[in-house]
Amino acid sequence: MSGGSRAEIVVDLDAIGHNVSTLRALTGVAMITVVKADAYGHGMLPVARAARAAGAEWLAVATLDEVRRLRAAGDTGRLLTWLTVPDEQYDHAIRADVDLTAYSVAELDEIAAAATHVGAPARVQLKVDTGLSRGGAARADWEPFLARARAGEQAGQWKVTGIWSHFACADEPAHPANDAQQAAFDDALALADDIGLTPEIRHLANSAAAILRPQSRYDAVRVGLATYGLDPAPGVDHGTDLRVAMTVRAELALVKQLEAGDAVSYGHTWTAPERTTIGLVPAGYAEGVPVAGSNRLEVTVDGKRRPVRGRVCMDQVLVDLGGDTPPEGSEVVLFGPPGGGRATAQDWAEACGTINYEIVTRIGGRMTRRYT
Ligand code: PLP
Repeated sequence: MSGGSRAEIVVDLDAIGHNVSTLRALTGVAMITVVKADAYGHGMLPVARAARAAGAEWLAVATLDEVRRLRAAGDTGRLLTWLTVPDEQYDHAIRADVDLTAYSVAELDEIAAAATHVGAPARVQLKVDTGLSRGGAARADWEPFLARARAGEQAGQWKVTGIWSHFACADEPAHPANDAQQAAFDDALALADDIGLTPEIRHLANSAAAILRPQSRYDAVRVGLATYGLDPAPGVDHGTDLRVAMTVRAELALVKQLEAGDAVSYGHTWTAPERTTIGLVPAGYAEGVPVAGSNRLEVTVDGKRRPVRGRVCMDQVLVDLGGDTPPEGSEVVLFGPPGGGRATAQDWAEACGTINYEIVTRIGGRMTRRYT
C-alpha cells in the first residue's frame, strides 16, 4: 500500500465568481449569496470573499455563530441571518451590523430589548410564512407582527430593512404551491405597505426560483446551490451557464486481485462473479461518502468510470477495476464537474436517494480543502 494522500476537496473559486456574476446578470436584482453550512461544504470564508469580489451585495447565513466567523474574518458587507433560538444573544449581532430576521412579536420584543441595551437601533427583516410552514409569521399573525415592526421602527428600536419568505417547491416550476406562495407574499407586502413599512429589499426566490421564475425576483434573490454550480432543478431544462465548483479527489491506495467468488467488505454484500481487480479509495463515511451508496456509487479512476463494490466503510471504499491494474497513486475523482467521464454530485444524489445539497454539504470529515 502506498503512502498516498488522503482524499481532498478542490474548490474552484473562479467558478464561484462566474456563477455569482452570471446569476446577477440573469436576475438583474441584488444578489444575496447563501454561505451557511460552510458554504454548502465549500468553505465559508473563501467562498464569501469570492462572492463579494464577484458583486454579491449580501451574504446570508443561518446562525449567529456563522455571522461571528464572517465578521472576524473581516467581512464588512451586508449580512442577513435567519435562524435564532430562544434567548438568543442579539447584542453582538446588533453591534456587528447584521440584518436579523424576526419571525414573531416575541422575537421583535427580544431584539428591542437588545437594541436598548446596546444603545443602537437594530436592522430587522421580517419573515412571513407563505406556505413552507417552517420559520416565519403564520398568516393569522401577520397583522400584529407587522404592526409591532412598524411601532418599533417609529420608536427607533430598528429599521425594517426587508420582508421575505421562502418557497417550498421552486424546483418544480409547475407546482401550484409556487403561485399560491407568491400570491400570499404579495398580500403580506400589501399589508406592510398599508401600515407604512418601506423595506429596502423584498425577497422570495432561492436558486430554482431565481432562475425559473422571473416574477419572483422582486428586489433581491437568495441564491445558495446555484452559486456552487449545482443544478437547483435537475431535469428542468433552463440552460443557465453554471460551473461546478467542487471536485472531490483521492489517490488509489491499493490495487489487488480478486478471484471469482471472493466477497467484498462488511456484510459481504457483493461477490465477484469472475476474476477482477479491486482498488481501495481512502475516503469513507467519515468523509461523508454515504453508506447508502454501497454497491451504487461510481467514481472515476484515471478517467474511467468504476463502480463501488460492497459496503462503504468508515475510512475507505472499494471500486471494481474490472481486471485493470492502474498503479497505486492513480487519480480517483469521486465526483466533480460533468464531463471527462466523471460522476457528479447529482449522480451521487440519485444513486443514494438524496439531493445534491446533502452530498456536497456532508462531504468533508478528514479531507483537506484546497482552493484553485
Ligand atoms: N433562503 C433560505 C431561507 C434558505 O434556507 C436557503 C437554503 O436552504 C436558501 C435561501 C437558498 O436556497 P438554494 O440553495 O436552493 O438556493
